[in-house]
Order: sequence, then C-alpha cells, then structure tokens
Amino acid sequence: TRQLVWFRTDIRAEDNKALYQASQAGDVVGVYLIQPGQWANHDDSPNKLFFSLSCVASLQQRLAKLNIPLLVKEAVYYSDSAELLLNLARSLECQGIWFNDEYGVNEQNRDRKVIEAFDAAGLSSHRFTDAVLVEPGRVMTGKGEAFKVFTPFKKAVYRHLRPEDWMPCPSPSKQTSLDIASDPVPVDRYTPTASNILERWEPDEASAHKCLNDFIESRVQRYAEQRDFPALDGTSSLSPWLVAGVLSIRQCFDAAVCANNGELDSGNAGITCWLGELVWREFYKHILVAFPRVSMHRPFQVETDKLSWRHDSALQEAWESGKTGFPLVDAAMRQLVATGWMHNRLRMVTAMFLSKNLMLDWRIGERFFMRHLVDGDLAANNGGWQWSASTGTDAAPYFRMFNPVSQSEKFDPDGTFIRTWVPELAALDNKAIHQPLKGKTGDLFGALDYPAPIVDHSASRQRVIEAFKGLRS
Ligand code: FAD
Repeated sequence: TRQLVWFRTDIRAEDNKALYQASQAGDVVGVYLIQPGQWANHDDSPNKLFFSLSCVASLQQRLAKLNIPLLVKEAVYYSDSAELLLNLARSLECQGIWFNDEYGVNEQNRDRKVIEAFDAAGLSSHRFTDAVLVEPGRVMTGKGEAFKVFTPFKKAVYRHLRPEDWMPCPSPSKQTSLDIASDPVPVDRYTPTASNILERWEPDEASAHKCLNDFIESRVQRYAEQRDFPALDGTSSLSPWLVAGVLSIRQCFDAAVCANNGELDSGNAGITCWLGELVWREFYKHILVAFPRVSMHRPFQVETDKLSWRHDSALQEAWESGKTGFPLVDAAMRQLVATGWMHNRLRMVTAMFLSKNLMLDWRIGERFFMRHLVDGDLAANNGGWQWSASTGTDAAPYFRMFNPVSQSEKFDPDGTFIRTWVPELAALDNKAIHQPLKGKTGDLFGALDYPAPIVDHSASRQRVIEAFKGLRS
C-alpha cells in the first residue's frame, strides 16, 4: 500500500512518529504545504519561514536517500488544505494520511477538516502525539481540570512520564523507488530580515544534533548559573530547530536524562534546570489546548481584558527600534531585529518594559516578536508575553516588575552585551553604561548619540499597579 505523510512543524526524518509508523504500513510519499496567506495571518516572520523552507530542502535530500519523494504544494490558507491533500492522495493512490498533531486552534480546525474529508472519501487518517511528551488532556489536577500553574504541572508530568515517553522512535528504512518526482522547494520565497540565520542554525538534522550534543557534553552542567547572562553562551540556542521540528522534544529530553543518569528532578543542577525549561515548553502547549482563547488574542486572565492599555506610536517605535534610553532593553531589541533571536532573560525584560513601563498592549509586542523571531512559536511566545504582562497563567503578580536598570547591573554587570549591540555606549565605564542619561532630557551637546530614558521607572510602575488594582474595585 502507499501512504501520504504530511510534514508540518516536524521537518525531520529521525524520530518522527507519523513518518515511521506510515513507513511500517507501506510505501511513503511525503508532502509539505506552503501556506502563505495563513502564515501572514499568523505573523510568521520571513526569518522563520526562510529557515523552515531551508530545512524542508534538507529533509527532501535526506528522504531521497530512502527513496521517499517529498512533494511541495501551495495551499494559501489552512482552509485550502483538505481539498488539496485529498486530491493528492487520490491521484497518487494513497490509502491514508499520516501526520503529527499541532495545538493551535486554527491548526486543530484544519486537521479536523482534513480528517473529515478523508473519512468521507473512504481513506484513513492517522494522527500522533509527537510535539509534546504527554498528550494534552492526559495530565490533569485532582479535580480533573487543566493545570493553570507551572510547578504542580511539572510535578504531575514527572509522575506520569515513563522512559518510553521520551525514547526516540526508530528511523524509517529505505523503500523501493517510486516513480514519483519530488518538487523543487522555494527556499528563496522569503527573504530574511536578519543576517546569518543559516550560519548560526544550519538547516539540517545533523547540525542540530551536533549542537545538542555539544551543549549536553560541555555546557548544560553550567546552565543553572549561566543561563541568565546574555553575554555568555549559557543556553542551548536550540529553539529554532525545536520550533521547526528539526529536533524533537524526545531527542532533547532523552539526551539530557541520559546525561543525568536517568534522573528527572534530581542529580545535576544544570540538567534538571534545563529539563524544567523543556517542561515550560510543554506547559504552554497544553495551555493552548485547554484554554483556546489564548490562541485568539484573548488574555488568559479574562478580567485583564478591561485594562486600558495606552496607544502611543512614538513609544512603540522607540521600543521596536531599540531607542528607549534603557541600554539593556535597547541592546535586546537590536539583537532581535539583527539576528531573529533574543536571549530568554531579555525577552522577559523587554516584554515587561513594553507592557508595564510603557503600558502598551502586550499584543503589540507579541506580534512584533513573531514578525522577527526565527523561533516564533504561538504557545511559547503567547505564554511568555502573557506571563510578563501579568495577564497569563502563572503570571508574574502585577506588582512584581523588573527594573530594567537593576536587571542590567545584575545580568550584564560589565556591560559586555550592551557594548555589542549599542556601540554608541561602548566607551562608557561599567557603572555609567547601565543608565547613561538618567535624569537628562537629552544630550544635545554631549558626545553621546543616545536618547534619554523615554519613561520614568518609578512613576510608570505606580501607574500600572494602579491600573491593575482598579480591575479589582
Ligand atoms: P534554552 O534555555 O536552552 O531552553 C531549551 C528549550 O526549552 C528552548 O529551546 C525552548 O524550546 C524551551 N523553553 C525554554 N524556556 C521556555 C519558556 N519560557 N517557554 C517555553 N519554552 C521554553 N520560545 C520559543 O521557542 N518561541 C517563542 O516565540 C518564544 N517567545 C517568547 C516570548 C517571551 C516574551 C518570553 C519571555 C519567552 C519566549 N520564549 C519563546 C521562551 C524562551 O525565551 C526561548 O525558548 C529561549 O530563549 C530559546 O533559547 P534556547 O533554545 O537557548 O533556550
């Protein structure tokens, strides 16, 4: 028999459940859909799309060695997928479609329609839990509800998990050659706005594994101490590969647990901390399923919908272009625009700055991030933004707010990171670099071509606290 495997955010040949299971059932034909209208609606960045298509091109070469053709078709919106896939399956005489689940509302609706169409045509559909360790809905509170807080979720996941849950699945074997030609992959369809994406993240499985192995062998042990310092190479930088599915969650989890002698929440502090971050990834995907409103631009804490966020395009523009007068915030925003990636500590700092200090709607920042990130991911990005804005699950309490200057002094103490991204401040000493123009209205006649702070931290802190308090009265 012949089977159609539909690749989405699982652009890999190794440890791909749908691919492997389909290969056990018959000969495989792969398909990847280009969905430009939907991707634009989802604010997927040209950086991410360029990277994904480059990964698809590598996957195609890899699959060719197994005699598996990979077709590439265009279906502008998700709503165009079912018809296209069904026609394809019929013309190729495939018996069924195989894919790994995705968890956004639009993705779930799309998949439901594909299954209905295949059902109606008498063809089979096979879906797999692959992007997460535990299928959403399987781990619940004692009351049978979805977890809303991370720590109890993590504990429950660890109680539930068995080694087979994170054991990578076998690779498909070579099949006899089919008389079906692969389609060219339009890698240049999106022009990245950031530079050196493919140099930093080579778009193939072997390179991703090399980075994973390097990290596990030589850096994860120091992760707990180093992960908050953006000038250090303290985190794994694996996120673009994880988001595109070039690496699987099981491959990452398995590598870390093996290095920790099979332990999840004891053993090496760096490894347990990193495993915890992988569980945050899991948590936000479960939240998407249990609370679909977060996929629809709604806050998790519904009452925060009533907050009157300010609209000020000049402030927004200063934040986006890295000209707020707060060096760490500016360095981070410039890193994002230049590279398509931002360090986690700085994602929190810049997100809190926009939503709390500037009191601009967190959705503005969420969208700006998606439009630039090479690792943009609805669940993690939305989760991170809502956490920072205190509108989300497990949210930072509204009165807890980062001071961008203290964050800078603490996590970039000698200004190395700032000096890299805000070169106009490079000559300042280690103290002045964190707030060069404090209390000034502009350094018109000074040597520094750098703006004065666009907001007063204490006053803006008070303003947002009052706004949140107002929700309760
Ligand atoms: P590591 O520290 O090495 O962590 C390993 C992996 O764990 C990451 O690659 C990621 O898959 C996962 N992970 C780590 N932290 C988190 C977290 N807080 N939430 C969910 N997963 C996590 N991550 C994305 O993958 N895509 C996004 O679009 C995204 N947007 C974010 C927006 C905001 C405002 C915030 C605060 C966080 C966001 N994150 C996002 C989470 C986190 O910042 C990145 O996953 C991390 O910086 C990626 O770098 P790394 O691979 O070196 O991470």
